[in-house]
Amino acid sequence: MSGDWGDDGADLLTFADRALAAPGWRLTFPPPLEDAFERDTSRDRCRQLASSLLLGVLLYDSFILDDVILNFSHAREMAWVQLGIVTPLGLLFAAYIWREPPKFRREVAAALVTLVAAASVAYFTHIVPAPVRLPVMFGLIVIIAFANTVLHLRFGYALAGSLGTLAIFIAAMRAPPMLGWPIATYTTMLVGAAIVLTLVANHRLERQLRRSYLFGLRERLLGIGLSETNRQLERLSYHDPLTGLPNRRMLAARLAELWDARADAAMAPAPVGVLVIDIDFFKMYNDHYGHPAGDACLRAVATLLRQHMRAGIDLITRYGGEEFLAVLPGLDLDACEGIAERIRTAVAAARLPHQGRGQDGVVTVSIGVAAVSPQLAVNPSDVITRADAALYRAKQAGRNAVRAAPVMSAEGH
Ligand code: GH3
Ligand code: MG
Ligand code: MG
Repeated sequence: MSGDWGDDGADLLTFADRALAAPGWRLTFPPPLEDAFERDTSRDRCRQLASSLLLGVLLYDSFILDDVILNFSHAREMAWVQLGIVTPLGLLFAAYIWREPPKFRREVAAALVTLVAAASVAYFTHIVPAPVRLPVMFGLIVIIAFANTVLHLRFGYALAGSLGTLAIFIAAMRAPPMLGWPIATYTTMLVGAAIVLTLVANHRLERQLRRSYLFGLRERLLGIGLSETNRQLERLSYHDPLTGLPNRRMLAARLAELWDARADAAMAPAPVGVLVIDIDFFKMYNDHYGHPAGDACLRAVATLLRQHMRAGIDLITRYGGEEFLAVLPGLDLDACEGIAERIRTAVAAARLPHQGRGQDGVVTVSIGVAAVSPQLAVNPSDVITRADAALYRAKQAGRNAVRAAPVMSAEGH
């Protein structure tokens, strides 16, 4: 199967559970499940039907030897029916089924071959010498067994095919030369018993086939559900639920990745910039507007920050309460300071009202900037500490300000 179940997966799972709980005699599934069953099994089913038909044709034709060896007077006529009608028809229909026609045509085509073979056997009972008439008639039992268990026609078709063969058998019995009543009754009972037994086997086989399909389907669908849940869990564990921004876990992973790349760099490793962005007087914002409004403000600032990041290169994370941290790979201190300044201006220009001690009555941010120059080997945490120290100086300077950490010396101080 394709494995691409989309939103149907959950529905199919419900149907599969219901079908597994359904009474044993019930074979067909509810429509969407039956469609899935057909889609998933049709290819194998067609291969199995076509190859079984070939086997059947081969066995059927092997009786030509008997006709010849026993030197039947009508051997030539029988061989003509076998090789001229039944065999080509069987091969033609096997080829047709191989090409995967829809279910109805596929099953009907296979059933038709068995009915034609049954009709030929009924015809032979009239032209063979009287003593072999009965054994030839038992050929019908073999055909019934073949149709119901080897071809394993789907149950409804097997039932219809069996009734058809029974009708052919009765017609053959009633045509002259008549078999005596005792023989006729006994033979009819035998054919009837063969039909009942092989239909029971047919039903059981199909039920088992369908149940194992349901179990397999359930497993697949549950597996898909599980990997989807894992994806969601992974997403949750790397993101902050309030703002939707990546969290400190993601930050750690990204920094480790960048530092690995720096270690692997053949020439001078690329610089990396870090901004620590803190909302000014946020405690007062909460005190004034309430915590839910504070949350909304955090989300609004997060959205603004996101807009200043280069897609697929920079990372903006929620670092703590009202603090955000941006990682800007490939940018030196000057470039980072420029971006910090743009962010600071953009937040103020957004004019999110702040009636506490916010400057000009709007929400503002202070930003500390630090960068690792290409030639320096320092820890990510050192860069963050330096950006934090710069942020402290921005707050000291009256807030709504950007301050950069002094360029590090070769010793990393
Ligand atoms: P400063 O200008 O010096 O940064 O002052 P401040 O008030 O912003 O800083 P402080 O660290 O004193 O207060 C931060 C406040 O942020 C306190 C806390 O209630 C609030 N805060 C932290 N996380 C959340 C959150 O998820 N939602 C809301 N609404 N508030 C939060
Ligand atoms: Mg603050
Ligand atoms: Mg803070």
